[in-house]
Amino acid sequence: MNTMESYLEGKWRIGTGKRTTLVNPSTGEAVAEASSEGLDMKAALEFARAAGPGLRAKSWKERGEMLRVMSRAIHAHRDELIGLAIMNGGNTRSDAKFDVDGASGTLAAYADLGVELGDARVLPDGEAVQLGRGARLFGAHAWVSRQGAAVHVNAFNFPAWGLAEKAAVALLAGVPVVTKPAISTALVSHRIVKILVDEGACAPGALSFIAGSTHDLLDHLDGQDVLAFTGSSDTGALLRGGKSVLAHSVRVNVEADSLNAAVLGPDVEDGSDLFHLFIGDVVRDMTQKTGQKCTAIRRVYVPRGKEELVEERLSERLAAIKVGNPSLDEVTMGPLATEQQLKDVRRGVARLETCARRVFGDPNVVSPIGEGTSRGFFISPILLVSDSPEPTDAVHTHEVFGPVATLISYDGSADAAAALVRAGWGGLVSSVYSDDKAFVKSFVLAVAPFHGRVTIGSSKMAGQAIPPGTVLPQLVHGGPGRAGGGEELGGRRGLAFYMQRVAIQGDRALVESILA
Ligand code: NAP
Repeated sequence: MNTMESYLEGKWRIGTGKRTTLVNPSTGEAVAEASSEGLDMKAALEFARAAGPGLRAKSWKERGEMLRVMSRAIHAHRDELIGLAIMNGGNTRSDAKFDVDGASGTLAAYADLGVELGDARVLPDGEAVQLGRGARLFGAHAWVSRQGAAVHVNAFNFPAWGLAEKAAVALLAGVPVVTKPAISTALVSHRIVKILVDEGACAPGALSFIAGSTHDLLDHLDGQDVLAFTGSSDTGALLRGGKSVLAHSVRVNVEADSLNAAVLGPDVEDGSDLFHLFIGDVVRDMTQKTGQKCTAIRRVYVPRGKEELVEERLSERLAAIKVGNPSLDEVTMGPLATEQQLKDVRRGVARLETCARRVFGDPNVVSPIGEGTSRGFFISPILLVSDSPEPTDAVHTHEVFGPVATLISYDGSADAAAALVRAGWGGLVSSVYSDDKAFVKSFVLAVAPFHGRVTIGSSKMAGQAIPPGTVLPQLVHGGPGRAGGGEELGGRRGLAFYMQRVAIQGDRALVESILA
């Protein structure tokens, strides 16, 4: 069996102790194993920090060029990585492309940013200001790279993109990375790191990789390190409260759960392009990656009187989804990633059923296509309808991380729609579909403080819309409250997490020469 090694202190290393087995979620077959027990995490962190000066000696442009090499290396191995994502992640080919191309695309976007930022190493922040009566005493703000390492702990659902989107920003900011994917789907991340190491794509020491648990790594973090986490709220809260994190004020970014919503405006007619866009986005988000997407639509709000129509249209589309082994081309939705996920989703649907009724799918009934699927972790897409849920009901409080959404009606006013969306108490992204400018404006402004991103679907852009579930390197990703309170990406905004903003005051000529 394939034994995954960690890449620490510049060498591939196998842990001791009990190994975790990775499986093919379509068949339950074991595909690899790993352990990081016994590996020296303190030394690994120190080694990563020691690579910082070499990385920071490069200009923005040079670090951008490094990201370009990384992006191309991943792209050159695209088919192999897609194959691994199908085998170890239960991804359809299209799901796997979303992850792998997202990885190379995000690295490429940050490579472009590096080139744009040019030959400097410092990032100016706004205009310098005169501090005294004369024109001599000035103050200016600038961002400078932190001197520690960036520890990245990622969720199981995007083993390629999750690794790359965080690494791209940290490395461009001049901070070496220690990355730890969720072990259940780590084959893709492992292969990516192997490719990058073998091809010498990264600066020496700039990328380390843990195949397994972090063990005592987080206990060694100090005030120049950062911790970026993606996963469940519970784990996020645990890591945020870590003793070194608290003792050394370690900067932490948490990307967690989210009850993303899609709202249909009262003006949208059945059969219109905008109506099709709305239905298409909901079905895509429910079923892409088998609903295991932090940005997937979980709550669908429609004006009263349109519930039956939308339920019918969504059910028709969901009935056409072919669940099965994603190695078959005809399959459009693969299994959940792990047996635990299957248990959690079934339990989650039962919780939703305390305030909603199931109108499509059964969490215990599915007939997957393909050989060997009887031991796979398959589930049917599930649509529920909730008539008038309270803010404390499960539909507004519990994220079911699978192909599950709940349809809810509202009175057709932007205020009512926004109040229902806000009941999710903080999300990554919500979307609204309407051509009514007043409705859209009041909805967007009312939900904006509760989100990292809001997408607007309108007739004029229906043909070129990017679905709400797609995270873009140019726009921020993250959200307040339940979503973890974090923020990633957003072009140069993402760099701030890995840098220190400093105010420098003194003689104007001196300040300007330092920041040049
Ligand atoms: P999880 O169980 O919280 O695990 C996330 C990561 O944390 C994994 O790498 C896991 O490692 C690691 N981990 C768990 N306990 C740890 C500990 N005590 N110390 C250090 N690391 C620890 O979440 P998941 O099941 O992988 O992901 C699903 C959740 O992630 C969903 O709730 C989803 O909403 C959220 N998510 C959010 C975003 C976003 O961008 N906001 C994106 C994707 C997913 P092991 O798995 O190896 O134990």
